Amino acid sequence: MAKIILTGDRPTGRLHVGHYVGSLKRRVELQNSGEYDEIYIMIADAQALTDNMENPEKVRQNIIEVALDYLACGLDPKKSVLFIQSQIPELCEMSFYYMNLVTVARLQRNPTVKTEIQMRNFEKSIPVGFFTYPISQAADITAFKATTVPVGEDQAPMIEQTREIVHRFNYVYGETLTEPNILLPDNSACLRLPGTDGKAKMSKSLGNCIYLSDSEEDIKKKIMSMYTDPTHLRVEDPGHVEGNPVFTYLDAFSTDQDFEKYLPEYSNLEELKAHYMRGGLGDVKVKKFLNNVLQDVLRPIRERRIDYSKDIPYIYKILEEGSKVARAKASQTLKEMKEAMKINYFSDEALIRSQVEKFS
Ligand code: ATP
Ligand code: MG
Repeated sequence: MAKIILTGDRPTGRLHVGHYVGSLKRRVELQNSGEYDEIYIMIADAQALTDNMENPEKVRQNIIEVALDYLACGLDPKKSVLFIQSQIPELCEMSFYYMNLVTVARLQRNPTVKTEIQMRNFEKSIPVGFFTYPISQAADITAFKATTVPVGEDQAPMIEQTREIVHRFNYVYGETLTEPNILLPDNSACLRLPGTDGKAKMSKSLGNCIYLSDSEEDIKKKIMSMYTDPTHLRVEDPGHVEGNPVFTYLDAFSTDQDFEKYLPEYSNLEELKAHYMRGGLGDVKVKKFLNNVLQDVLRPIRERRIDYSKDIPYIYKILEEGSKVARAKASQTLKEMKEAMKINYFSDEALIRSQVEKFS
């Protein structure tokens, strides 16, 4: 069976380091491994509109921002199909049919959607489009017959919902759709990177992000004012590394080489953590180290992004071409679905013959 990747991001803002460790970095590695037959990377503008309905300009502006982040991180349009969700109308058609396979109660149980409803104050009036976005996400994944979906942990319930839809569709209409598998980051700090404010998830909607495109000064400012351990008041106090985002970021980004380069008195992160927990290590020193580490990761990304931003029409061209390729694939899958669902009236010779016989 072909190995196919589908994943993507909502154009609700520039991408941040949570996206990088949660999904983007892995995608680039998978792309360059040469092990995948097809790779589709989607900018989910239609999904972004489900909770930004009144703000289409925000979504429109962020298409290029996200595409620049992709290219800057190393996604290569020669190897990966970069496309825009709304340009593939087949996805809406698929969602419409999948709606018959899912109950309202099942959607209400989705823990990620539950949290997102609270975050957006949608408790009293959830837009139907937002409520059903896990179904539309199932269409995004199955349209490309994706076998592998590299995403952060918050997406696990969506992949589970997709697998259920695939089972049900194949059971009712016959084997047609491919069951996807989630691919989570190996490093547990990267599953759901916390925000600079210590909140559970770095998220565009929460304003607690370090963006891939932030300037050197912005990164430094954000790191130096990060939330740490509130009980660690004086340098001598013993500190906590659990729930301390400065250490979670070091878990996600630092290597032993970084210690050699910037903090040679420790040989690795475990030693630094032990000192912090014992007491006698100040937050400023740890933050300065984190700043050095992150600057090294983000500098080349930022520089490539600036280069790509010099030719914006070329970026639109990449997305237009990618959308054509993606649409061809989705329409092939939809054709197979419609055959399975017996709604292919005009291309089925046997059907026409049988109806002739019935009425003769
Ligand atoms: P929004 O607030 O608009 O939902 P977001 O920051 O959650 O934005 P998405 O576009 O919804 O970003 O997510 C894109 C991908 O990035 C998904 O695979 C998601 O799992 C991953 N991701 C987002 N935030 C994080 C995070 N803090 N840690 C790890 N992965 C993340
Ligand atoms: Mg999200």
